[in-house]
Amino acid sequence: MSQHLNRSRAGYGRVLLPGVFLCVLSAEVSTAQLDDAYLFHDSHFHLTNYVQKGTDIRDYLAIMGDKIGRSTLFGIPLQQTWSHENSGDFAPTYYLQSDAPLYYYSFTDAYIAMAYRSLTPEQQQRLDPMITGFNPADMYGVDHIRRVLETFPGVFTGIGEFTIHKEFVSSKVAGEIASLADPALDRILDFAAEVGLVVILHSDIDMPFAKVNEEPVFLSQMKLLLRRHPKATIIWAHTGLGRVVHPVQVQAVAGSAERDANHLEIISGMIEDPTLRHVYFDISWDEVAKYAVSSPEVERRTAAAFNKYSDRFLFGTDNVAPQDQATQLRVFHMWDPVFARLTPAASRAIRKGNYERLFDAARQRVRAWEKANVK
Ligand SMILES: [Zn+2]
Repeated sequence: MSQHLNRSRAGYGRVLLPGVFLCVLSAEVSTAQLDDAYLFHDSHFHLTNYVQKGTDIRDYLAIMGDKIGRSTLFGIPLQQTWSHENSGDFAPTYYLQSDAPLYYYSFTDAYIAMAYRSLTPEQQQRLDPMITGFNPADMYGVDHIRRVLETFPGVFTGIGEFTIHKEFVSSKVAGEIASLADPALDRILDFAAEVGLVVILHSDIDMPFAKVNEEPVFLSQMKLLLRRHPKATIIWAHTGLGRVVHPVQVQAVAGSAERDANHLEIISGMIEDPTLRHVYFDISWDEVAKYAVSSPEVERRTAAAFNKYSDRFLFGTDNVAPQDQATQLRVFHMWDPVFARLTPAASRAIRKGNYERLFDAARQRVRAWEKANVK
């Protein structure tokens, strides 16, 4: 709470005792009003890009300003190789800009931790750093996560965004290909459940350009994985969609009891499934927003699902190293037509409430685990 005061009343925050704050506040603006003034908390934010370059963390706090209350904080655990043989003097900064491979870049976690540690306690309160620099196809991957918690206690709230199936990316990663059935991934999710780390998992629900009337190829494997880890809090990034991983319209098998289902109905079915009540969905990335606002009918159906299951969706931007606030807010306003159809309670839950509930609980659990396990 205090950082709001610091920002809105420069120079006050640090000298006054909490009690005095509150009476000053009640005179002018209540804390709830200040908190409620924020548009959203960003459940999916990359401070650095595919070549580990990004926004200075203080510039990011300035970009958050009085619009974004809290934010996850992670890099991208994959480095795009600049192969001179491949692209000469052209330095690629994105995975679509070169055929050269991607490789796991674990130092991203130390970079994020040190940036976070350079902030004041008030500033740190607004951020939830996440561990990403591990290889999910390596049985030793989980040891990296434990090592980061032991090296930087008091910093991280969760793991991810990390990726299993991702269009244009997975096939470029050097080494073993990650899979939803890999026991290395089960070790990672077991540990996340034990420690209380929130998990943000990117895995496409389907292959690119899939036939729209067939069951998404990775859906059943994903459900099996999620059911194997009921004690972990898992956020499925982008509800499994991507740039060319489209929402499907599955036709029921003739004569079967099932009925046609579209992407929203598949997700709603997962939400209603008692074996998946530990699973949440982030709606981040403008490539996802484009589907939801593709027609008034889709907007209406999306809003109906959000109103009905408002405790299971989290807004996020999926922005990478933005340079200004307008850029950071652009994807949020793509959702305006949908948010305009939500009840105030559903809108607040998806924009902020679910973030607060999941990430506050994780902070407490991870700190407790560190207290008990980090010498
Ligand atoms: Zn992302």
